Amino acid sequence: MNFEEYIRDIPDFPKPGIIFKDITPLLAVPEAFKGVIDTMAEKVKDLDFDTIVVPEARGFIFGSALAYKLGKKLVPIRKPGKLPYEVVEVSYSLEYGEAKIQMHKDALSKGEKVLIVDDVLATGGTIKAIETLVKKLEANISGVLCLAELSFLNPREKLSNVRVETLLKY
Ligand code: AMP
Repeated sequence: MNFEEYIRDIPDFPKPGIIFKDITPLLAVPEAFKGVIDTMAEKVKDLDFDTIVVPEARGFIFGSALAYKLGKKLVPIRKPGKLPYEVVEVSYSLEYGEAKIQMHKDALSKGEKVLIVDDVLATGGTIKAIETLVKKLEANISGVLCLAELSFLNPREKLSNVRVETLLKY
């Protein structure tokens, strides 16, 4: 199955110069979504991990389906003001300005093995920030898994020495 056929390019969204990879057509075709989750499961079948960590909002979609399929624990990462309990936080730079993300401070235990899952790996800034949060709780990163990689932005250069798996490369 060619998943690229189900991803729609939206030029100049959310701002001029960005080509947004819209995954909603893929979600609208049950066999395509199922195919992605099954392929994601296949990509990490030899990886040792306990927990899937996912950023809002599109990371939730793929990560939760994968956690259900593989019987893994799931931990959400959110923007400030959304998580109800005490949090750990990290600030990171976007193309323009700064962003912050948070995770519950009891979400991970020391030594817990984590797989980070998201839809699009662009500059790698978001995954790098999640790595920082995971390390704050002394958990370990087993790998990173994303549906699509914008390889022309060289995201892998930003990430530490972890295994990065993607299903599509642009
Ligand atoms: P980055 O931190 O630059 O790797 O950006 C990754 C995050 O932003 C992911 O959570 C993506 O959902 C989103 N993102 C960045 N660029 C795009 C894009 N061109 N199309 C769709 N989502 C994007």
